[in-house]
Amino acid sequence: PAVGIVEIASGCMSECTFCQTKISKGDLQSYRVGDIVRQVKTEISDGCSEVWLTSTDNGCYGFDIDSDLPELINSVVEIPDKFFVRVGMMNPMYMPRIRDNLLKSFDSSKVFKFLHVPVQSGSDKVLNDMKRGHTASTFRDVVNQFREKFGKFTISTDVIVGFPTETEEDFEMTMNLLRETKPDIVNLSRYSQRPGTDAAEMVQIDVAEVKRRSKIAYELISDISRENNQKWVGWKGQVLFDEEFENQVRGRNFAYKPIFVNEEPKIGQISSVEITEATNHSLIGRITN
Ligand code: SF4
Repeated sequence: PAVGIVEIASGCMSECTFCQTKISKGDLQSYRVGDIVRQVKTEISDGCSEVWLTSTDNGCYGFDIDSDLPELINSVVEIPDKFFVRVGMMNPMYMPRIRDNLLKSFDSSKVFKFLHVPVQSGSDKVLNDMKRGHTASTFRDVVNQFREKFGKFTISTDVIVGFPTETEEDFEMTMNLLRETKPDIVNLSRYSQRPGTDAAEMVQIDVAEVKRRSKIAYELISDISRENNQKWVGWKGQVLFDEEFENQVRGRNFAYKPIFVNEEPKIGQISSVEITEATNHSLIGRITN
């Protein structure tokens, strides 16, 4: 395999009112930096050229063992082999605490210029009802700071529409936040009641209304990702072909953009590619070397 998945912790420090994962995974338990580095080395010696650092919430990694995510990334990228690191999902609430060091950790050319920071809503009132521990501005700042420093930088986020207390105005705030920050990837979910969660006890929004909002959000997200992807047409650079996706080998560039080519690359191959077309979901190019 080209991709090695390394779990860095289990559980999280939050209690988001819509979340069932917390109920099953419990509180944060970070694995030790040394153990993770050893695991990454094993993945590399098994032939992986890309390693994903994943957990329930990477943002709070290490807070229970007197460490943090930037320290972990710095230790991982010290491994001398040629490989890439994809840093997994993190709740933006910890960004003010780790951001400056994280920006420095991302200087390493081994780290994909990619962040997955789920914002969930653009309304601070809804975020408060979700007990997310961050505001819309926390997310806005992350997007601005990483894009400002690195230029081409992929932002992935998650949005829930139809949370029980979301009014039409709150929904519009989410749409406006997406229009403003233009995330490259938005994983859109329609809110659904999860047994055992606090939000399940709240008065729910009519399903048809949730669907209506979801449709509007979906269209906006498609427009934004097409517009973002269009900016890559003409880009030339190295691509690592790392995964098979729908019977085609998919590649990733430094910003973890998904790239397909007409040639038939092998998994693990690194090639120079020029991007010739863009769709809503991916970039299409040709191998130039
Ligand atoms: S949404 Fe994420 S951060 Fe919030 S409780 Fe669930 S797992 Fe933890």
